[in-house]
Amino acid sequence: MKNIHVVLIPYPAQGHVIPLMEAARCFTSHGLKVTFVNTEFTHKRLMGACFEIDCPSDLMQMVSVPDGMEPCDDRNDIGKLTKTMFQLMPTKLEEIINDINKKNDEKITCIIADCYMGWVVRVARKMGIRLAVFCPSSAAVLAVTMSIQNLIDNEVINCTGIPSKNQMVQLSTSMPLMDPNNFLWACVGDSATNQIIFDFVILDGKEAAEAADHIICNSTMELEPAVFTLFPKMLPIGPLLATNGTTRQVGHFWNEDSTCLTWLDQQPVSTVIYVAFGSFTIFDQIQFEELALALEDTKKPFLWVVRPGISGSMDHVYPSGYVERVGNRGKMVSWAPQQEVLNHPSVACFMSHCGWNSTMEGVSNGVPFLCWPYFADQFFNRTYICDIWKTGVGLNKDETGIVTRREIKSKVEQLLSNAIIRKNALNLQEKVTDSVREGNPSNKNLNKFVDWVKDGNDLCLCE
Ligand code: UDP
Repeated sequence: MKNIHVVLIPYPAQGHVIPLMEAARCFTSHGLKVTFVNTEFTHKRLMGACFEIDCPSDLMQMVSVPDGMEPCDDRNDIGKLTKTMFQLMPTKLEEIINDINKKNDEKITCIIADCYMGWVVRVARKMGIRLAVFCPSSAAVLAVTMSIQNLIDNEVINCTGIPSKNQMVQLSTSMPLMDPNNFLWACVGDSATNQIIFDFVILDGKEAAEAADHIICNSTMELEPAVFTLFPKMLPIGPLLATNGTTRQVGHFWNEDSTCLTWLDQQPVSTVIYVAFGSFTIFDQIQFEELALALEDTKKPFLWVVRPGISGSMDHVYPSGYVERVGNRGKMVSWAPQQEVLNHPSVACFMSHCGWNSTMEGVSNGVPFLCWPYFADQFFNRTYICDIWKTGVGLNKDETGIVTRREIKSKVEQLLSNAIIRKNALNLQEKVTDSVREGNPSNKNLNKFVDWVKDGNDLCLCE
């Protein structure tokens, strides 16, 4: 029997590859065949980090296309990467699909594209292939993209995306207040980078989301009810997490250091501060040292992910005598198996940059947050955590732009002594994890989406 064959394509960043990989695994478990398209650069990183995915090999194949940059170019230069990629990749994707369709009985019938790779809409249209869009960020962020015209008409932003007023806005009365200066494209980098993100990622993303038959989101109705009510085309199918099943998370760019799990086993229940800032955050040396000293000052056990390059250079420098002083109370690793860490009973709280995946992972494990957003949608995710769900507290910068030792120590104490936040986190965990159980909204949405992919009929997917 032939399998229905789909193409999945993520934006080439860690926080996009991991959830799309999870989606791929989910689809193969429903009998779909998946061709996963990475850039060559990402493909090499995955293979270099012991890539292994536990789904039938006849249902999952990994292919790669060039991103148009030189091998030594900096892929953290998001502006350059985006511009180059958006120019070259449409032709390359078309070639790959033509190639697969020539050699294969199981032709590609659907493209499921990251909403931040909106250029795919033109390939889908040209080749006559159905399109669905996957949203790896909060649905609220995509809702903003889909409201661009409205925002321009109401002079919240000008037609190049630049915020025109310094006031909070709401997409509807039931939606959270948003600061236009924190719209994704307004805080990714310098003004040139922000403009590229607006012109390419956001405008193409809007076109793709409008053209797609369906939009699936790694979120749940409980987390973002107002958005899903306002935009019924968006379907929550999350949380897409490996820890919901029996499998390990896949798609890491760095090798995970599992020694931290053994270290966690030795710590008392609910005592450890887990500190991790995802794949992009960079601290200058002053901030790096301030954080190091703050963790020392808390006198609590801490597990700190010190990613290569986190302090701007590949060799981070701890304060003098630091490693000896903290001894076994502090465990530093270059990359952690984060979902397993957050699932560990010793973890008391999560100091996080509030990337959407980290947010979903913390929420799904009932862990309270110390929020320290770095860029892009992370400021809005902090609003969800601190003001809407009330499952965390925010860390504030002082007048020199530093999050001080004192601020960190005081917020850690405040969070760990706050029984209400802990209770909120556990309540939210229950609701969110419940939604993927058989017969519940995220599970039903996923099943209906897979049915649509399989039979091509436009089912009513509103849940
Ligand atoms: N992650 C991990 N180990 C680490 C740090 C992060 O496995 O030490 C994973 C984390 O579980 C999440 C992803 O990397 O799935 C980061 O995505 P997120 O959206 O939180 O942040 P980004 O890297 O996009 O800023």
